[in-house]
Amino acid sequence: MRYAAPTTVDEAVGLLAADADARVFAGATDLIPQIRSGRPEPSVLVDLKRIDRLVGVGESGGTWTVGAATPTSTLTADEAFTGAFPGLSEASGLIGSDQIQNRSSWGGNLCNASPAADSVPALVANAVRAVVAGSNGERTVPVEEIVTGPGQTSLADDEFVVEFQVDTPPAHTADAYLRLIPRTEMDIAVVGAAVRLTMDGGTCTAATVALGAVAPTVVRVPDAEAALVGSTLDDATLEAVAAAASAACNPIDDKRGTIEYRRQVAGVLAKRAATIAAERANA
Ligand SMILES: Cc1cc2nc3c(=O)[nH]c(=O)nc-3n(C[C@H](O)[C@H](O)[C@H](O)COP(=O)(O)OP(=O)(O)OC[C@H]3O[C@@H](n4cnc5c(N)ncnc54)[C@H](O)[C@@H]3O)c2cc1C
Repeated sequence: MRYAAPTTVDEAVGLLAADADARVFAGATDLIPQIRSGRPEPSVLVDLKRIDRLVGVGESGGTWTVGAATPTSTLTADEAFTGAFPGLSEASGLIGSDQIQNRSSWGGNLCNASPAADSVPALVANAVRAVVAGSNGERTVPVEEIVTGPGQTSLADDEFVVEFQVDTPPAHTADAYLRLIPRTEMDIAVVGAAVRLTMDGGTCTAATVALGAVAPTVVRVPDAEAALVGSTLDDATLEAVAAAASAACNPIDDKRGTIEYRRQVAGVLAKRAATIAAERANA
């Protein structure tokens, strides 16, 4: 394997365009274990962390921009970002350990395309957009259009995610992310649930519910969102949210949980995440 450390987006695109077996990486916390476990070695490893535009977080003109290779520990440590997106921050803070979070990125978490990736339901719940660079220039797409299945993305061989963009949330809007793992930390989600709500005088006026680890890609739950909008999150509404989340799942059976267990947990986590998001939004 060759190692390349471009300092511009164009240089990185050129490396990918010149060799279909070249692969980008940010933290390499997924890529290196995969190579060590026998996956084919890329011909060229393209390090994205030396490109200034890919590392950093900030807000300008009502839009937050997060570089695709920004360590997730940078996001959890950023008080303004965490204040605006508490759920996105807590999802980022659940990835592995402190050591992993000093390397791991949203770009890697998304493009590794694991159904259990923790940041992705929260990215979807916040309608985050990915800016993708390739030989044909740049395009901006909703994050949910990037992952097409386990280990599969819609990116062409010469494309990579440069940055993420998300609008500053309206007043009284907040998100929350919860996951269940079999251990206390350093494990893969059995279920992840992200909810974002806008509240007005105790009544929900906008809602997004997204589940991870219960289907090949993140699942939006429109029936839960419809139940939440117009409600005060009374018990009947929360039961409707739980039922809709359980029904929306298409999970697998594995050592971390059965299909029935995952459905049950999805309902419980969606309900709890909605309650937390509402408390934050009302505050
Ligand atoms: C011990 C350990 C614990 C972990 N715990 C968790 C956990 O709790 N939750 C969780 O979700 N994950 C976990 N992970 C997985 C991993 O840390 C995360 O998925 C992380 O966010 C990956 O980011 P990265 O920058 O290291 O990705 P990399 O390994 O650099 O890249 C991963 C994949 O994405 C591609 N890629 C990277 N950046 C881009 C880009 N900008 N554009 C296009 N493609 C790109 C790479 O080519 C590669 O295929 C864990 C990993 C380890 C080793």
